Amino acid sequence: MDDCVFCNIINKIIQSQILFESPDLIVINDIMPKAPVHLLVIPKKHIPGIAHLEAADEVIVGEIVFKAKEMAQKHGIGESGYKLVFNVGPDGGQTVPHLHLHLLGGKKLGE
Ligand code: AMP
Ligand code: ZN
Repeated sequence: MDDCVFCNIINKIIQSQILFESPDLIVINDIMPKAPVHLLVIPKKHIPGIAHLEAADEVIVGEIVFKAKEMAQKHGIGESGYKLVFNVGPDGGQTVPHLHLHLLGGKKLGE
């Protein structure tokens, strides 16, 4: 996926500060943060989005959610609370067609 921004970050073609990396996923800061803490948990596999999940992807989705919970605790928002958001498709506001989970927190977030 040569033109995918997240694949290019994963493959270190685009510079980004990677906060966590495992064989299956990375965690980065969102480049345009919408909250004091705004991280993206991204599987290394190029899955275009939630709508494209296959049965074999069940494990990685669990890993992504679990990692988001861990990162929330690490960033001190485990108790104050946070939002986990998957945007899906055009009406869902998805702009990058590579699956990612937004972790947002550090202030009172609206609806
Ligand atoms: P979405 O709208 O759900 O597809 O979210 C894509 C997110 O990726 C947006 O919040 C962007 O600010 C973020 N983003 C785009 N390019 C980069 C990048 N190079 N590094 C970090 N975050 C990015
Ligand atoms: Zn990709």
